[in-house]
Amino acid sequence: MNERMGYTKLPNGWIQAKVPLPFALKWVNSYLLPEEDGGWTVVDPGLRTEDTVSYWEETLSQCGIAWSQIRQIVLTHHHPDHYGLAGWFQERSGGAPVYISQVARDAAHRLWGERESFSDELTNALLSHGLIPELEADMREHLVSFRFKVAPHPTDVRILEPEGEFRMGGASWRMIRGDGHGPGHLSFYDPITRRILCGDQVLPDISPNIGWMPNADPNPLASFLSSIAAMRSLEVDMAYPGHREPFAAFSERVEQLLDHHERRLSRMAELMGDSSVTAFEVCEMLFGTRLRGNAHNLRFALAETIAHLIMLEHRGIARRTEEAGNIRYVRL
Ligand SMILES: [Zn+2]
Ligand SMILES: [Zn+2]
Repeated sequence: MNERMGYTKLPNGWIQAKVPLPFALKWVNSYLLPEEDGGWTVVDPGLRTEDTVSYWEETLSQCGIAWSQIRQIVLTHHHPDHYGLAGWFQERSGGAPVYISQVARDAAHRLWGERESFSDELTNALLSHGLIPELEADMREHLVSFRFKVAPHPTDVRILEPEGEFRMGGASWRMIRGDGHGPGHLSFYDPITRRILCGDQVLPDISPNIGWMPNADPNPLASFLSSIAAMRSLEVDMAYPGHREPFAAFSERVEQLLDHHERRLSRMAELMGDSSVTAFEVCEMLFGTRLRGNAHNLRFALAETIAHLIMLEHRGIARRTEEAGNIRYVRL
């Protein structure tokens, strides 16, 4: 059972619901935006668990919001901690439409559709990157377990076009596509009030995970860095992220994230030394062996390590070799 984080009434009239998560992140921010007709827009409702379902029943009733007042459900990206409850919310509200980008919607179906093969694909890919066989069963089971936390999928889904405008909460928002954390991620920017709902693209305190997956973006770190670099010049007074608290210093945070990845790339090149190494070995050089006991954290750390190694290769600092399905990297 999670400690309840509750919700915060923000000065701008929004409600920041801190929807519990059974991970180290503790909660995901779902934002409730009041509409001119007395209804509400919900951004990123959270992961589906027994705990989050009861959280929402309590929170809406404490805020005096009826389910029939939910007008629309808007998603920044497909990750289960944001998308997971979208279908349940749609049912519970009596059919409020769900808005998401096409790319993110396709990713949600690829990863958690009924006949998904992604759990096997990703586990096999991680094995070829050096994941030790003792951890294979844990990893597979961990991935499959998400299917139940992302159910049901919403049925009335409407596609958001990046660079278009979207109306919610009495404002018109420009949709900015970002990649690298999740494909087709959308941030919503209002240049008039200088606010941005940035999902997981830019987070305070923590560095958004770089979401490498097999048969997807071939260089997600490059996509991430160019996506956030393009957001650096936005004039932002307040950013509303998917995790942690709203924050003001948006472009400074973008700078810090760009620096963080440059430093991580240098550190990784140093750690690689002169021998050929797998991504799993590099991951343990960086984070130690403690992640072996936590498939969730290990998956994120290993995927991100692979993304950094791909970038080192792309920059001509490392070379990838593949022999009998085993992928290794060597520093040049
Ligand atoms: Zn995410
Ligand atoms: Zn998230």
